[in-house]
Amino acid sequence: NTFEDFHLKRELLMGIFEAGFEKPSPIQEESIPVAITGRDILARAKNGTGKTAAFVIPTLQKIKPKVNKIQALIMVPTRELALQTSQVVRTLGKHCGISCMVTTGGTNLRDDILRLNDTVHVLVGTPGRVLDLASRKIADLSECALFIMDEADKMLSRDFKTIIEQILIFLPKNHQSLLFSATFPLTVKEFMVKHLNKPYEINL
Ligand code: AMP
Repeated sequence: NTFEDFHLKRELLMGIFEAGFEKPSPIQEESIPVAITGRDILARAKNGTGKTAAFVIPTLQKIKPKVNKIQALIMVPTRELALQTSQVVRTLGKHCGISCMVTTGGTNLRDDILRLNDTVHVLVGTPGRVLDLASRKIADLSECALFIMDEADKMLSRDFKTIIEQILIFLPKNHQSLLFSATFPLTVKEFMVKHLNKPYEINL
């Protein structure tokens, strides 16, 4: 299989090839076409499998650059992972005209407020700061149709569960969810049952 098979927009395909990706990894082969149709996904995948691009590519495909709204929210457990993930969004989306912002604790909130005055299509962040921005109405998630959680097992094992559920209230009711997790403990299962709509399950 090839990336051309997914019928991606040309700008996105250019970014993928410039990143040196020649063909989709197994998780990408499963997740990209399903995510593009709008279906929820629960994927069990370890680091190093290409899981980041597995959710970043459909995200970039779906975002409308002309719409000046946050259209995708990517939740991660640490600042380091937030920075890494945003780097993948920027590299693969280099020609897409899509802007990505990182927001995590331990940085100045004023900088985030200023940044959010400008266009942000993809918000990558850790739960506490994202909830802070949403509840103060600094970040508008009312048209954020795509909710992604990476390392869901880590996210839900901490005190993040209640914070994430509070964040979800700010998203449109019919949003799409993509969950990626290395393991599948009860916390992830419960979250899936409660918040995902007939998810397509990927086990690799
Ligand atoms: P990840 O599992 O997201 O941490 O990705 C692991 C590594 O694989 C990263 O360095 C990616 O740049 C690389 N990668 C992801 N997808 C592909 C692909 N389809 N072809 C070649 N390398 C890839």
